[in-house]
Amino acid sequence: MVVALGPVGADLAVAAPAEDRSDADPRSAWLERLRSVVASSGLAPDPQANLVVHCPVDDWGFRPYYSDGRCPLCGYIPEGEIRTLTRQAVDWFWPAVGLTALMSVIMGVLVVLAYLRA
Ligand SMILES: [Zn+2]
Repeated sequence: MVVALGPVGADLAVAAPAEDRSDADPRSAWLERLRSVVASSGLAPDPQANLVVHCPVDDWGFRPYYSDGRCPLCGYIPEGEIRTLTRQAVDWFWPAVGLTALMSVIMGVLVVLAYLRA
């Protein structure tokens, strides 16, 4: 596949002329709108994802959010309630199986109806 590319930044100059960028700063307004949409949708990352815990056993800093709540080197478990990525993950296997089975039944019914009416 061949993709023809124009000069670098040519489309940007068409989309936002230089005099427009200095006035309203549409990027920051767009970023604020995106942040508000993400915050209101519940898709914002967990604030504990950036929590760094110091392991006293091996003098190692780690993020328990990504290491199942334990030090990845020695298994040290820090005190307090720490959420992890795996505990918040939703298992979509059975809903996906149910949806696939439901769609199969619907498609089967549609095929039978189309066959009987033809
Ligand atoms: Zn450790």
